Amino acid sequence: MKRIPESVAAIVAACAAIAGVPAMAQEDEGRWSIAIHGGAGTLDRADMTPERDAAYRASLQAALDAGKAVLAGGGSALDAIEAVVTRLEDDEKFNAGRGAVFTWDGTHELDAAIMDGRDRAAGAIAGVIGVRHPIMLARKVMTDSPHVMLAGEGAEEFAHEQGVEFMPPEWFDTDARREALERMKAEKLSALDVDIKFGTVGAVALDTHGNLAAGTSTGGMTGKRWGRIGDAPVIGAGTYADNDSCAVSATGWGEFFIRVGVARTICLRMQMRGEDAQTASDAVIAEVGAMGGDGGVIVVAPSGDAVFSMNTTGMYRGRATSEGLDEVAIYGDE
Ligand code: ASP
Repeated sequence: MKRIPESVAAIVAACAAIAGVPAMAQEDEGRWSIAIHGGAGTLDRADMTPERDAAYRASLQAALDAGKAVLAGGGSALDAIEAVVTRLEDDEKFNAGRGAVFTWDGTHELDAAIMDGRDRAAGAIAGVIGVRHPIMLARKVMTDSPHVMLAGEGAEEFAHEQGVEFMPPEWFDTDARREALERMKAEKLSALDVDIKFGTVGAVALDTHGNLAAGTSTGGMTGKRWGRIGDAPVIGAGTYADNDSCAVSATGWGEFFIRVGVARTICLRMQMRGEDAQTASDAVIAEVGAMGGDGGVIVVAPSGDAVFSMNTTGMYRGRATSEGLDEVAIYGDE
């Protein structure tokens, strides 16, 4: 599965077409798969109006459609991830980019990571302020720097050098997230009490060239301070992709996901124990739960299986495959 250059795959496909290889064989080669999330947490039907429910589903479907279009057109898994995540970063319903949660000091410190399953190249940024699309900056770290993770002011300086788009602080502000911070401070709540849902976004994909990729973007947790960084930008915790095992993007209580090394552990179980994606994901999410953490993951396997696993009552999510699967969901029981 490793390192299948897109140009080679295109030549193989063209030769197959000329030689009249049956359509079925070509369809197998053209298999793609994608799963996306918009955060996991306490999501109960009773707390959701029909309008909000419909608005979330429409946003998820639009993001999924953007990823599907890239993959169905023969584009790369990395481009599909970027198409999905940039869309959700601009959507203020989700805790990433615009609509990110407030820190204790009233700013928005953004974390993101992206990983290429072909060669396990990876890029991540942490605690960055003002960047419109943190996932694009993470990709720049991967492709245009010799590093894997950049943080804070240094990452912002790199972003300026790379010509990455910045937005003014108020562009990221939303009333709902401000209320969450104010309520947290007034009632001396913890981030978990106010973050009824988390809202991080992510995507994992298998492209028609047999390559996997994963990406995650988040504002972290309401009221975070002291430069707190969650699991999303930590390669192997919230984000991981390797053509030989799987691609994972996580959402949930980051401290636990870091301690368990969630994304890497799921892939390792698949690779070393031969578990399928669902079995491996359920086992690792159970481990997180046993330690007291909660959240969920989306996983795509080299076979094209796209699965979800969570120990919360819901996770904004969606998945689609070249075989015709195309669905979005919110609650755990759907
Ligand atoms: N995992 C993120 C963090 O801990 C939060 C989330 O998924 O919403 O920063």
